[in-house]
Amino acid sequence: MEFRDLKKQYQTLKADIDRAMTDVATSAHFIMGAPVKELEQQLAEYVGVKHCLSCANGTDALTLALKALGIGKGDAVFVPDFTFFSTAEVVSLEGATPVFVDVDPRTFNMDPKSLEEAVRCVLDQMTLRPKAVIAVDLFGLPANYPAIREIAKKEGLYIIEDGAQGFGGYVRRPKADTGGFEIQRACSFGDISTTSFFPAKPLGCYGDGGAVFTNNDQWAELIESYRVHGKGSFKYDNVRIGLNSRLDTLQAAILQVKFKAFKEYELTEVNKAADYYSQLINGMTKFIKKEIQITTPYIPNNYTSSWAQYTIQLSVPSGNGTFNRQALQAKLKAKGVPSMVYYPTPMSKQTAFKEVHGYVLTPNAQRLSDCVLSLPMHPYITREEIRFVAESLISSL
Ligand SMILES: *Cc1c(COP(=O)(O)O)cnc(C)c1O
Repeated sequence: MEFRDLKKQYQTLKADIDRAMTDVATSAHFIMGAPVKELEQQLAEYVGVKHCLSCANGTDALTLALKALGIGKGDAVFVPDFTFFSTAEVVSLEGATPVFVDVDPRTFNMDPKSLEEAVRCVLDQMTLRPKAVIAVDLFGLPANYPAIREIAKKEGLYIIEDGAQGFGGYVRRPKADTGGFEIQRACSFGDISTTSFFPAKPLGCYGDGGAVFTNNDQWAELIESYRVHGKGSFKYDNVRIGLNSRLDTLQAAILQVKFKAFKEYELTEVNKAADYYSQLINGMTKFIKKEIQITTPYIPNNYTSSWAQYTIQLSVPSGNGTFNRQALQAKLKAKGVPSMVYYPTPMSKQTAFKEVHGYVLTPNAQRLSDCVLSLPMHPYITREEIRFVAESLISSL
């Protein structure tokens, strides 16, 4: 069994992907060929924002967002303590200071109360200017943007949405008068939003890739410049220091095929898989040792995840010993079930950030890094495989 079965996906889409790759090779427009612009338009329309600018990877997408917003030395940027390293790395790379914020123990996403507290602490110390917040849609679930937006408004912060894992997720909102609903998709929640097309993300390519989304014309123009060496009116007119960060035509062509499958059925399939996992695991917990508690993922009302990961929590509520996750992973592996720990170390405990000042305590991030376990999840996983994983998990406990 694969943790994320990209081979099965390729076998399913093979004819179209092969044709797309051959077409690019035949055209020989390897950089900024027609599929790049086409894909950008398709993604912008799906997400519901004016501009989509593709780039080399999800980390660069964040860097481009920070550059467009003019964030640098002396600026505090609030990031969740429980995330992938990139979210905080880019802040330091731009010379700004990451301020780690605790997360909600149920959604894994930034806790607005902790954000508010962190902003207050930074203001009290008067050494940094609070400038932006990078909220992450962890494991595919959009963050609590209404609450984050309220704080950002009050404190004058920009919101960057790190939707590297969130692409495709959405929030339903009752529509005034009609009685119906309208949906808002991930990558439209930030002033600038980003995503990644790393192969294992919800929408992945066959290498590295990423994109930036915004409704703001001025920022879009800046990002367009920054991604090609700070170009001005043309490529050899350089008006600022930028990056070489473009999405290859080959990757854009592959993504066009995969995006179609993503919209048509993959997003639905991962949601069905997640429901089945939770139903099975919750139904079987009565068979495990009483002191071990399994918590299946929590999805708030009206939220839909794109299931970058299906992550459970394993805890020993009464005991003083911590749960032996490594032993469980070994047992699962012996049964042929791969599992992963996303993430074993909070940002505030990373060696690279040992000089970074901690403003608020992050007990939830600390606890989650000890108790999370991600199970195989992808659109092509079968009900039999899900059942096998769930049964292997329960029997291993
Ligand atoms: C994967 C990821 C990134 C970085 O994307 P790359 O394309 O690998 O550079 C950033 N943030 C989060 C939360 C991620 O999961």
